[in-house]
Formats: sequence, structure tokens, C-alpha cells
Amino acid sequence: MATLADAGLQFTSLPHPAPMSAERRAQVLANPGFGTNFSDHMVSIDWTEGQGWHDATVGPRQPIALDPAAAVLHYAQEIFEGLKAYRQADGGIALFRPMANAARFNQSAARLAMPALPEEVFVESVRQLVAADRDWFPTVEGGSLYLRPFMIATEAFLGVRPARQYKFLVIASPAGNYFKSGAPAVSIWVSEYTRAAPGGTGAAKCGGNYAASLVPQGEAIARGHDQVVFLDAAEHKWIEELGGMNLYFVFDDGTLLTPELTGTILPGITRDSLLTLARDEGLTVREGRYSLDQWREDAASGKLVETFACGTAAVVTPVGKVASRDGEFTVGSGGPGQLTQRLKDRLVSIQRGQAADPHGWVTKL
Ligand code: PMP
Repeated sequence: MATLADAGLQFTSLPHPAPMSAERRAQVLANPGFGTNFSDHMVSIDWTEGQGWHDATVGPRQPIALDPAAAVLHYAQEIFEGLKAYRQADGGIALFRPMANAARFNQSAARLAMPALPEEVFVESVRQLVAADRDWFPTVEGGSLYLRPFMIATEAFLGVRPARQYKFLVIASPAGNYFKSGAPAVSIWVSEYTRAAPGGTGAAKCGGNYAASLVPQGEAIARGHDQVVFLDAAEHKWIEELGGMNLYFVFDDGTLLTPELTGTILPGITRDSLLTLARDEGLTVREGRYSLDQWREDAASGKLVETFACGTAAVVTPVGKVASRDGEFTVGSGGPGQLTQRLKDRLVSIQRGQAADPHGWVTKL
């Protein structure tokens, strides 16, 4: 693997010790919520056409100055990632599959006409931030430090073409339980809006996809559900994914199915990890298409016994109830299923260093 020096980069460290009082921070870490509190530092690296990546710093987390004509503000040339640092059973800290996030970041960059960031620089940036902010680990059970690497087009230019200047940043946020209700199973609303069309940006982690999901997600909440599920854009028939999680279906013969990666859904790292863990257990897992009608029919007949959503933020979450304009149905018992729980425990125990890591997914810091 290339080193940071190969990429011509060296981090300048500008420490920013504890701007928040120790008392207030202890309160935050005991009840961190999700995405509302932030650590003391951030990583910043600039990219300029003809020069490449330069000026890497780990410095105080603070507002960034942007020209009002910065391309990101007009044409949404922005991508991001989400991963977590976990406290290990031995007291250390580790990242889970950070190279997979680095690779996906570059796939998103390519789709948004942005420069690639060497994978080792991505991972080193995350490492540096976690090292600077190790005091920001939640004290609550199951807590983690959520890391948000992202890249924005900073060039001041209103023409529609790829920008010639970018900024890569990493911020960190202590995380507790993702779903406010903390419910054992979530209820989901089948949206009539579509998230991504063939040939579009569905497989990229770009901000625009999420801006477009706010109205459908708001509709789900207004109707009393936790999350929205999107169907495919062409036939409005096939199940794709939730606003921020992939889906798995578990059948009474012990097999699993997850929607295939057609370019319109995000290739989740949790989805990929569960595919491997389920196969390790000797289970049959198919990647394929599954329609809403079939889902409803299989839930009614009992052929479908569990459905769960998966992603970095909420790990593995059972889906209990599914509602659409055509009515509602319940999956299995409406609560957490056995296989859902087993796969979740398996994944969480690897992430937290409580079980062997046969695939080398855990990167200790
Ligand atoms: N789908 C979408 C749309 C997402 O935003 C996410 C979260 N990154 C996922 C799926 C799950 O991906 P991962 O397991 O990599 O967090």
C-alpha cells in the first residue's frame, strides 16, 4: 500500500484541547443521541487542479469559509461517507472496514466528477481524528464515535462543469442509539416518490440523494412510521432500500434475500458484511429482486418470517410493520426475529472486538 508520503502529504497538527467543559462533555457522552454533538477537531485537506492534494491538517473544529459562488452551494458537487470507531473489549479503539468506505468514497467521487482521494489518506485522516478526539467516546452502553468524511467543491465559479478546487474534511460525532424511539422493530412507509433512477446517482453517497429523500421521509414520519422504503423508479414494483439502510428478507426455509446492486441502491458495507457472515454460517443468501406484492403475500402466508434493515448508524434493525396506500401488513411476529438478532450479535461482537475477526475487518488504532 502506498504511504501518506507517497501521496505527498503530511498532517500538520493544531491541537484544540477541550473547548467544552468536562462536566458538559460528560453529560453529552452519557446521552449522545445521534449527530447533534461534535468532537473538538476536524481533518481538512485541499485539492487544487494541477497540484493535487495539499495542506492536510488536524485542527480545531470550526466553521469553514466558502465563497458564495462555491460550486457545492449551487450544483451540489458533494459526497460523504459514514463509519464508526468502536471501543474494543480490550479497551482499545478500532475502525470497522475503513478501506471499504475509502473505496466507496472514490466510487462516489468518480460519479460526481470529483478527484479520487488515495485510500490510505482517507483511512489515515480518520485515524488522526480519532486519535485527537479519543476523549469523545460515549460512555453509554453500545455507544461509538461516528465519523463523517466528506468532500465539497470549493471553487468560486458558476459555470456547470467539474470544479477545479475541493476540500476534504472529516468530523466526528459521539453516537448512541440511532432511532429516537429505540423501538425493537421499526415501522416503514412505502414511498410513492422514487429515490434513484437507472443511470442516476443512487449508488453514490452524494448529498443530493438525501436532500431528495427528505420529503418522502417526512411523509413517513407524518403518517406515524419510522422510515421510508423506496421502490424502483422504472416499474415502481421492486423493493430497493430505506432512506439510509439496506434491506434483508428471511424466509421460513432459512434462506435470505437482499436486493441486488443494480446501480440504484447504495452498496452498503453492513449489507456486504452480513452477506459474508450469513454465508460463513452456511446460510443461503441470494442477491436478487423482490417485489412489494411478493413481500405482502409472503408475509401473509408465513413464507417470509423476518425482514431487517442494516447500515452503519443503526447496525441491524428489525422491520415490524410495512404500510402503503394499499394498506398495512406485519412481518413475522412484528418484533425482532431470531436470525436478525443472531446476525446482529455476530456483527456487533466482531466490531467491538468480542469475537474473532476471520475476515480482517477490524482496524485497530
Ligand atoms: N443505503 C443508504 C441510502 C445509506 O445512506 C446507507 C448508509 N450509508 C446505507 C444504505 C447503509 O450503508 P452502510 O452499511 O455502508 O452504512
